[in-house]
Amino acid sequence: MPTYRAPVEDTLFVLFDLLKIDDEKHGDIFIDIDRETVSAIVDESAKLTGQVIAPLNITGDKQGCQFKDGKVTTPDGFIDAFEQFKAGGWSGLICDPKYGGQGLPTTLGTMISEYYNSANMGFAMYFGLTLGAYAAIHTCASDHLKAKWLPKMVSCDWTGTMNLTEPHCGTDLGLIRTKASENADGSYNITGTKIFISSGDHDLAENIIHLVLAKTDNMPDGVKGLSLFLVPKILVDDDGNLTDANHVSVGSIEEKMGLHNNSTCVMNFDGSEGYLIGEKGRGLKNMFIMMNEARLGVGVQGLALSEVAFQNARDYALDRRQGNCASGKKDEGDAADRIIHHANIKASLMSIRAFNEAARALVGEIAMLTDISHLSQDKAEVEAAKDRVNLLTPIVKGVLTDKGFDNTVIAQQIFGGHGYIQEHGMEQFVRDARIAMIYEGTNDIQALDLISRKLPAKHGQTVMAYLQDIGEFIQKNQDNEAIKNVVTALHKAAEALQGALEYLMQHGQKDPDAAVAAAHDFMHLMGIVTFGHIWGKMAVVAQQKLVDDPNNQFYQSKIHMAKFYATKHLCDAKGYQVKITSGADAIKAMPFDWV
Ligand SMILES: Cc1cc2nc3c(=O)[nH]c(=O)nc-3n(C[C@H](O)[C@H](O)[C@H](O)COP(=O)(O)OP(=O)(O)OC[C@H]3O[C@@H](n4cnc5c(N)ncnc54)[C@H](O)[C@@H]3O)c2cc1C
Repeated sequence: MPTYRAPVEDTLFVLFDLLKIDDEKHGDIFIDIDRETVSAIVDESAKLTGQVIAPLNITGDKQGCQFKDGKVTTPDGFIDAFEQFKAGGWSGLICDPKYGGQGLPTTLGTMISEYYNSANMGFAMYFGLTLGAYAAIHTCASDHLKAKWLPKMVSCDWTGTMNLTEPHCGTDLGLIRTKASENADGSYNITGTKIFISSGDHDLAENIIHLVLAKTDNMPDGVKGLSLFLVPKILVDDDGNLTDANHVSVGSIEEKMGLHNNSTCVMNFDGSEGYLIGEKGRGLKNMFIMMNEARLGVGVQGLALSEVAFQNARDYALDRRQGNCASGKKDEGDAADRIIHHANIKASLMSIRAFNEAARALVGEIAMLTDISHLSQDKAEVEAAKDRVNLLTPIVKGVLTDKGFDNTVIAQQIFGGHGYIQEHGMEQFVRDARIAMIYEGTNDIQALDLISRKLPAKHGQTVMAYLQDIGEFIQKNQDNEAIKNVVTALHKAAEALQGALEYLMQHGQKDPDAAVAAAHDFMHLMGIVTFGHIWGKMAVVAQQKLVDDPNNQFYQSKIHMAKFYATKHLCDAKGYQVKITSGADAIKAMPFDWV
């Protein structure tokens, strides 16, 4: 049976030591945020996720969601756990107090969401998607719609979903066929079939609020003809009472590789009553509010599964004995050494840990910039924050989920054959992590978004500002002897990134196939450099902390890990540069039907 302990100390390190969320300069943005309050919230989340939600992960995976007589049920124990989650007020943590939320920063909510996803990713999605739907309604809907629907979504009495995908269209949403026709009273009738809808139906909430992308009459073809609609499973009167069923039905639930704890549904809308959110024809733009939230959330899933897989692999490696260490026996008196003494196993664990801690810091940084972009009064600060979030969202979604999946496999490998059988739960982490690379826009689409939209944004100024920050860090720390190898390796990796970027700028338009073929590698190259920068910053913070507390193992290990990342991972940047700048001739030379 796998175990999970929320990484509370590291979360607090990111929030207070690295991001300095309680710094005076953020005073008007992060109001009432002090270490004591945040520690209490983080500790309670750790208890709920570790003691209540994580134990349901493996049992729920085996049982799965069931579909019978048109109704979906979640695995045993989910209803109780969801009630405990709601009773603790966790659902509204970062929501607007006007609608019953607690108004705490997104930064805090996002960091805690890692715990829920590590504990039980499928369970976390029932309220994770609700939060995304809340964000789209909160930002785009009329006051009337907000007042009517948001309070019950904030409390999670009603949960939310996101309905884009149809049988013939996933990535290319311009092909959507679901129709919306306007009624005399201003509502719409929605007709069509959506597939793969996460949390599409279940028994955890009394109503489900579907956000549906559909085409209205007399609108252009393609994405410009799409509008966003709020379509409840059960209609609600003006006093907030549930009334009649709304012709929304479940066709089936999918049999999947993993994610058995979440119901993935075919949803049929048969003239269901729906309400327009925002302006007609701006559906995709409005849905993107939900999708951008969701992309950060999916990135967190990659980190979360990497973390829980790491914890279990480390525990196993500290216990399992096989062979003796190549450099001499370590566990005297035992027939064999614990496998953590073998340098390959130790390096595997350190690689996963290096990813987890940098990814956690990146998630915190992006969430904090999101808060700044919403709440700061300083226009320049808002603009810079938005630019950085936009630039790095494909990295968060694409790199964190690609590497997160890889790490679950590496952690599984540490168990040998015991990782392949069900008992230890490692194969479930692998199966669950896989979907995060696919939904919310596949990782190839994230990579294409990065090179085709994010890099050219504002004539390249956004990416230049990012590179400039890294350059300034290198310059400021080049004489810092304690982390010299980190700064030197980051410098070389940043040069590789710059070289690859120049290649794309020079050749991208002339040879679009070369750019498309290089996109995935470029995303990972930028991920490596971003992580290197974060490790550099974390090492500097740890170094400062060690001045007053020289024997603190937490900070000492941060410096060890930064050096490890610099030696073993930043060097990959050069290889990516070589691959990217090799162009696409070898790909183009091969006729497509010979592949
Ligand atoms: C478990 C699960 C849960 C899901 N939850 C939801 C949900 O809640 N709501 C929802 O609406 N959808 C959901 N989805 C759908 C998911 O978002 C889509 O499967 C995904 O976006 C990809 O679409 P597709 O499967 O149609 O693949 P396709 O779009 O057919 O893509 C096939 C392949 O082609 C590549 N490709 C496509 N277009 C291009 C291009 N222009 N250039 C280069 N490569 C390209 C893709 O990267 C992919 O590798 C879910 C799916 C699953 C399996």
